[in-house]
Amino acid sequence: MVHWSPFVVSFKKRYPWVQLAGHAGNFKAGEHGWILKKFSVCEQQCLERLMQDTLRPHVPAYFGVVEQDGESYNQMEDLLASFEAPSIMDCKMGVRTYLEEELEQAQQRPRLRHDMYEKMVAVDPGAPTPEEHAQQAVLKARYMQWRESLSSTGTLGFRIEGIKKADGTCSTNFKKTRLPKQVVQALHDFTDGDRAILTSYLSRLKELRAILEQSEFFKTHEVVGSSLLFVHDRTGLAKVWMIDFGKTMPLAGGQTLTHRLPWVEGNREDGYLWGLDNLITLFSNMVQD
Ligand code: ATP
Ligand code: MG
Ligand code: MG
Repeated sequence: MVHWSPFVVSFKKRYPWVQLAGHAGNFKAGEHGWILKKFSVCEQQCLERLMQDTLRPHVPAYFGVVEQDGESYNQMEDLLASFEAPSIMDCKMGVRTYLEEELEQAQQRPRLRHDMYEKMVAVDPGAPTPEEHAQQAVLKARYMQWRESLSSTGTLGFRIEGIKKADGTCSTNFKKTRLPKQVVQALHDFTDGDRAILTSYLSRLKELRAILEQSEFFKTHEVVGSSLLFVHDRTGLAKVWMIDFGKTMPLAGGQTLTHRLPWVEGNREDGYLWGLDNLITLFSNMVQD
């Protein structure tokens, strides 16, 4: 039996760490129920700036850098901490998941890649051109662009990376989830079609959109490879946060983005808000159905 004491304000239960993307070795449990993510200077700078921005309540709280066993980590809030057996979904936002800088580098040093050819064939043996089949290789820039065309990234401005449900089922098999009806099916499975949860997510997404439209940080950054983390549990609590700022880059010379205009090489538009608009439309339709 737990005796209430005025000095003990909360008991944090332990639960298994759930990670839907990235390399398994990139995260560690930290102190105070925080998590440690392998250090990236880009992410550090973003999290520091975000702590000063109107987006602050919509991103994990940031607690600076720590060293452990000779490695550096960014310390941040564990967003699952206040949930009871949560169901989790990672949605990667935007019309592309590589930086313009990465595409430029791939184009400046064009090299034929056999490993990328093999990855392409494994997904779709019909994808390489006859020439690519003959050389058993593809250019990296071509591979990067082809990969985006498989999922809903190119057509809807977001894609589902992974879903883990409270019942233990887990899938990261969404690489070819592209059509709106396939996405809706995945969202339906994730929420068990629960209208209260769907409505809660919908209002969170609309709230986030309104704040993004005002945010100074958002206006002045190319936001690529960043995700929305959806978390709900059977108590009916449902929340959405922005995570993963490893490829979120400040724009130079006072440039700003709409995050809605189509991307053409050089304009750095990322399609983040366009993707969020589409996600909101899909959730709205599901709530009304
Ligand atoms: P990638 O670039 O391949 O997407 P990454 O190494 O940059 O991966 P993240 O995308 O930041 O890692 O996180 C991977 C997963 O870890 C997320 O999908 C989510 O499940 C979990 N995660 C990340 N940050 C948090 C957090 N603050 N609280 C709870 N879970 C988190
Ligand atoms: Mg990620
Ligand atoms: Mg990342």
